Amino acid sequence: MEKTKKFLLPEKEIPTQWYNIVADMPTKPMPMLHPGTKQPLKPEDLYPLFSRAASDQELNETDAWIDIPEEVRDKYRIYRSTPLVRAYGLEKALDTPAHIYFKNESVSPVGSHKLNSALAQAYYLKQDGITNVTTETGAGQWGTALAFASRAFGLELAVYMVKVSYEQKPYRRSLMQTWGAQVIASPSMSTKAGRKILTEHPNYQGSLGTAISEAVELAMQTPNCRYALGSVLNHVALHQTIIGLEAEKQMEMAGEYPDIVIGCFGGGSNFGGISFPFMRHNILNGKKTRFIAAEPASCPKLTHGKFQYDFGDESGYTPLIPMFTLGHNFSPANIHAGGLRYHGAGTIVSQLLKENRMEAVDIKQLDSFEAGVLFARCEGIVPAPESCHAIAAAIREANIAKEEGKKKTILFNLSGHGLVDMSAYDQYLSGNLINYAMTDEEIQKNLDRIETLV
Ligand SMILES: *Cc1c(COP(=O)(O)O)cnc(C)c1O
Repeated sequence: MEKTKKFLLPEKEIPTQWYNIVADMPTKPMPMLHPGTKQPLKPEDLYPLFSRAASDQELNETDAWIDIPEEVRDKYRIYRSTPLVRAYGLEKALDTPAHIYFKNESVSPVGSHKLNSALAQAYYLKQDGITNVTTETGAGQWGTALAFASRAFGLELAVYMVKVSYEQKPYRRSLMQTWGAQVIASPSMSTKAGRKILTEHPNYQGSLGTAISEAVELAMQTPNCRYALGSVLNHVALHQTIIGLEAEKQMEMAGEYPDIVIGCFGGGSNFGGISFPFMRHNILNGKKTRFIAAEPASCPKLTHGKFQYDFGDESGYTPLIPMFTLGHNFSPANIHAGGLRYHGAGTIVSQLLKENRMEAVDIKQLDSFEAGVLFARCEGIVPAPESCHAIAAAIREANIAKEEGKKKTILFNLSGHGLVDMSAYDQYLSGNLINYAMTDEEIQKNLDRIETLV
């Protein structure tokens, strides 16, 4: 019998609800704190920044299932369901008894999973009567997703793009402009935060922290304008659970259930997205699936960071978040997996890691690209540099299964494709890439500076 390679859901089987794991967690994450009063955050504290629905979802601890608005589901149908694929080629190359599956989020129009939350956030803003939205983008993936989502729901978007990326990644900028967004290199003269930095350091190449400050400032000062964030926060992970909910049905079509679920880890949204729906069966039904977050060795908050209250941004504008962090002043090396260069982790995943309900591994840059190139040669898809981390972790587990002579079922999320990141592959293939690692002393030095926030 011919073996099935790819599993897709009929449109009517696309999930109608997202899954909110917090409702099922026996121990809830510690509360986020207002940066001024240090009191637990209330939804109203978030209304000036985000949509009402996203603010309410952010702090929802009671509803396990949240309806996906019909209008959002309608846009999801442009690219969902995304394929669940059995990686026969990779299995053969590794000569492993493991069965390897990947969920292919790279098929979205923007090339990554980020559109799943961008569409929801843009829809809710439109519902609130908002006309304008701002955001920041580092490597450009989130800005691209929000550009398409804003267009889809008729919002005007301004994206502050870290200047060095603006210049080095012109095609992401063109994508955002194609969908009608205004893209501004950050730091810029359009905000107080930007002007201050530019007058002090005229050649400053920008950082995510500065871009966040600029986007937040513009949103606060513009009538009818809000801000949107592409990772870290609970409502973002909630929207991403569409990935795991689809995968659950598709694994059933394949007649299997995963022993191991893997996602690369920036702020935790794609990892949470693929993991949480399966983790609910660990929590509620005694399943023993392992969950592995794959982070870069150069930005190892889960494997080498510390659990404590910290700010989500460099400037200290955001609420205090209880999380695994390297310190909000941490400035990660300029690796190509731009989407993984973030100092902290979301509150839900931080709590889950603390309780050992999940694991984390750190992957060196060269190992990630080696895995990505092998995957491309076996399966055809050139993975995003971020996704290469998940692939490297999956390969490790498949090799362990081989050593132990055990059949394991491994599922990983392919969070995006790398077709706009070919300059990174160029560097890898020509031998010009290097590894970056942090010493524990360096990490500790940075953490010492944030010891007394709460
Ligand atoms: C942004 C991004 C990530 C990391 O973000 P998470 O919120 O941790 O998922 C991973 N992969 C791709 C392709 C991205 O664009």
